[in-house]
Amino acid sequence: MNDTIVEYLYVIAILFFVISLKWLSEVKTSRYGNWIAASGMAVAIGGTLLAYQVQRIDLLIIAIVIGVIIGTPIALKVPMTAVPQRTAASHAFGSLAVALVGTAEYYQRLPNIDVFTLTVLCAEMILGYLTFMGSCIAFAKLQGLIPGKPFVYGGRNFVSLATLGVAIALAVYLIANPTHSYILPFMAGFAVLFGFLLVMAIGGADMPTVIAILNSYAGMSAAALGFVLNNQVLIVAGALDGSSGFILAVIMSNAMNRSFTNVLFGGVGAVKIAASTGPAVEGGRTAQAFTVDDVATILEDARSVVFVPGYGMAVAQAQHVVKEVADILQSQGIDVKYGIHPVAGRMPGHMNVLLAEAQVPYDQLWEMDRINPLFPETDVAIVVGANDVTNPAARTRPDSPLFGMPIMNVDKAKTVVFIKRSMSPGFAGVENELFYLPNTMMVFGDAKKVLADLVAALKKQA
Ligand code: NDP
Repeated sequence: MNDTIVEYLYVIAILFFVISLKWLSEVKTSRYGNWIAASGMAVAIGGTLLAYQVQRIDLLIIAIVIGVIIGTPIALKVPMTAVPQRTAASHAFGSLAVALVGTAEYYQRLPNIDVFTLTVLCAEMILGYLTFMGSCIAFAKLQGLIPGKPFVYGGRNFVSLATLGVAIALAVYLIANPTHSYILPFMAGFAVLFGFLLVMAIGGADMPTVIAILNSYAGMSAAALGFVLNNQVLIVAGALDGSSGFILAVIMSNAMNRSFTNVLFGGVGAVKIAASTGPAVEGGRTAQAFTVDDVATILEDARSVVFVPGYGMAVAQAQHVVKEVADILQSQGIDVKYGIHPVAGRMPGHMNVLLAEAQVPYDQLWEMDRINPLFPETDVAIVVGANDVTNPAARTRPDSPLFGMPIMNVDKAKTVVFIKRSMSPGFAGVENELFYLPNTMMVFGDAKKVLADLVAALKKQA
């Protein structure tokens, strides 16, 4: 009887997970997607408690209480800009849990452990332990606990891959000699070392892509554990997690026009162009600094305005004041749109989430491919803390690291207003030629402050 109920519960949980992925893929339904995923997890936990005989209910309750005490403030207080590192932290915990359960299974099943089970367990433990350490490093880099710069040295890829090779060789030895349990800690140790070396060699700003890849590893490792424990919900949830993480990483790499191997082994971000501050003269070219009053004057004659937000809008938390400016412009009969680049910000959907939080209507959010043909007819493109995603070098400079990356063609608009604090380059460390074009107005300052001043200037003008 219990078995049938458990099977039904697992089917419901799996259905909820699948629906959640569908809903999460659209901004309009994403909140429901989150809720149904959480409900699916609650059903899966209920089913699992029914499926097994709980020996120590007290330990279970203590674990749940600790989880709730730690998890609730994290969920409520972590700001949007810190979501990538929060995600890295949950991957670290998830993959450690999977790796430890796998380790416990190995010791429990000794000495009668068949080749298939041990092979799956070894793959699962290697993935779990390397994901744990990789996610910890990703967290530390994103949180600024260690420098975000990639740790590069000659032959680093060889050293990293050799470390993984040793972990795999030890796994093969353990599978051939299952009772030689002293091998296990060494195998786990080399997997941890590989996770460390792999992620240390990757630049801080590539971390979101790395997190998607680690997400994929954690999912695969959970699915493998599901086979060992004969737990269907773990197999399906792990497979969904593994494949969605992989697809996301591919989408992000494509949007940056970088290969997967380039993200993982390219050491991108090791050399940064020195940041300069204030208006600059470069090779005889001068960037023109303007005031918010100049921008308000230009906007007076505009019929169409496109906002192009980027990472700087997230840092400044300027989404609400962007919406305020947009509301004023719309009330004056100006057509307002938001152009969204797929990798603007530091995680997929970063801009969509922030603008949704500011109650920007979904139909004003235009994806890059739809908005780009409209720029030649746009009067003013207002770039709010975006840089790389607008850099024309991606189209014109084959020697640039950005070359080939699809960009927002803001340079085709009649006027480009650039709101940022200085002349510093963006994540890719590449100077933006757009700053020097005659139709570009640089407005230096924190995005929130500049836009708040613009609101005041527009109101004064009205
Ligand atoms: P960029 O990193 O290119 O530029 C952001 C700009 O914001 C900076 O030049 C900075 O200039 C400015 N800025 C920072 N703080 C503020 C502030 N408080 N007020 C105003 N401006 C500010 O960001 P983009 O969004 O244009 O591009 C994203 C980059 O990240 C791309 O290179 C992409 O490939 C990469 N990336 C994105 C991922 C994703 O999933 N979205 C994943 C991995 C990488 P200043 O210091 O002068 O103010």
